[in-house]
Amino acid sequence: MKIYDVIVVGAGIAGCSSAYFLKKKGLDVLVLDRSGIAASGGSSAAGAFVSPKIGKGSKLQTLTNEAFEFAKDFYREHFPQYFKQTGVIRIPKDGSDAKNFDEYEKSNSSSRELMETEQLKALGIDDSFKSFLFDEAGICDAPGMCQALIENIPYEQYEVRSLNYKKDLWLIGEHRTKKLILATGYENKFVDMRYMGVKGTWGTRGDYETNIKLDVSMHKQISVSANIDGIVKIGATHEKGVDVCIRCNGEPLEGIFGTAGSMVDTSDFKLKETFCGMRSGSKDYFPLVGSVIDVYEMLEQHPKLPKGVRLKEAPMKIENLYVCNGLGGRGFVFGPLMGKMLADNIVEGKEVDARVNPDRLFLKWCRKSPDLESYRV
Ligand SMILES: Cc1cc2nc3c(=O)[nH]c(=O)nc-3n(C[C@H](O)[C@H](O)[C@H](O)COP(=O)(O)OP(=O)(O)OC[C@H]3O[C@@H](n4cnc5c(N)ncnc54)[C@H](O)[C@@H]3O)c2cc1C
Repeated sequence: MKIYDVIVVGAGIAGCSSAYFLKKKGLDVLVLDRSGIAASGGSSAAGAFVSPKIGKGSKLQTLTNEAFEFAKDFYREHFPQYFKQTGVIRIPKDGSDAKNFDEYEKSNSSSRELMETEQLKALGIDDSFKSFLFDEAGICDAPGMCQALIENIPYEQYEVRSLNYKKDLWLIGEHRTKKLILATGYENKFVDMRYMGVKGTWGTRGDYETNIKLDVSMHKQISVSANIDGIVKIGATHEKGVDVCIRCNGEPLEGIFGTAGSMVDTSDFKLKETFCGMRSGSKDYFPLVGSVIDVYEMLEQHPKLPKGVRLKEAPMKIENLYVCNGLGGRGFVFGPLMGKMLADNIVEGKEVDARVNPDRLFLKWCRKSPDLESYRV
């Protein structure tokens, strides 16, 4: 029976990016997804904007913008047919947000231009706040991009129901692999990874047919894409605390369409299709890339962890198990860089950037989880 070097579970942007870079490094990779390539989950619902993060220079902003620089160059060089560099205008949410834009200016390193109200009007955008135009930003065709990333990699539609590790191999149904990557988005039911704090945020997107002239994409509280081949995409993710990926009733939320109407002329918009899905975020909003701690063994060997002891050695890991997850509201920004980091780690043993290594969350989680005292049965 064939033994793969790596099986990736999940064919969203996280799984497809990881598989792409592993294959580039010569590994024998198989991708599995229960519903298709970017056919459900966050990656099917995403408007897939690839734009920088504005702010006052937080660590998350810095990382996001490193990932943005990498992603837009990567997409442009390797997959230009699935990445349209429309530019993205970042419009202040309201008057008080507009005041922050002067502050944001100091921490913006991405190529940009300040747009006055008149310039926005000329582009078909009805807004009175000065805004940033990020000219190198753009949007992906999400399923097209994910399919292209794994074009030369075997893929199978398959729902993984359980994991089994025997004699240095993961057994997934009929498949055998040396290493396993879980890129399953907000769902995480196979091993105890509670320390990563993965949670889903539900969102929706409507694709509208229109003849409006709109060459640039924009983001305010919601995202409105440029008109590409007669379609404008309007979307947002905002519902926290929804446990399951509820199916929308075919209508994007009215509120989102209403907000879009305050930004551009939506009078001829005709709803063509609605998408909805969950995006997954970590406890601290940074991505989760790397190996997985063996929580059970750690608590067995260090029963005082919940009381807050320091570890002298690196935490014990579940052998040959990795994650690429927690890409939050910017999966198409983070995907390529995170996929490359994971491949560099798996193939060359390069340490994963501490900012995204899930280990960062373990000790604090142990201290903050009183129920762990009774975990060791
Ligand atoms: C409405 C909306 C708009 C968004 N807009 C943007 C945007 O403009 N720009 C941006 O960068 N990001 C955006 N995002 C966020 C982005 O979509 C996510 O960050 C990204 O899709 C996460 O990708 P992923 O591969 O981690 O997870 P997912 O895309 O959710 O993929 C996980 C996959 O795992 C599969 N899976 C799960 N369990 C199993 C199993 N047991 N067996 C087999 N397969 C399994 C699922 O079928 C799924 O395909 C948006 C999200 C939403 C919901």
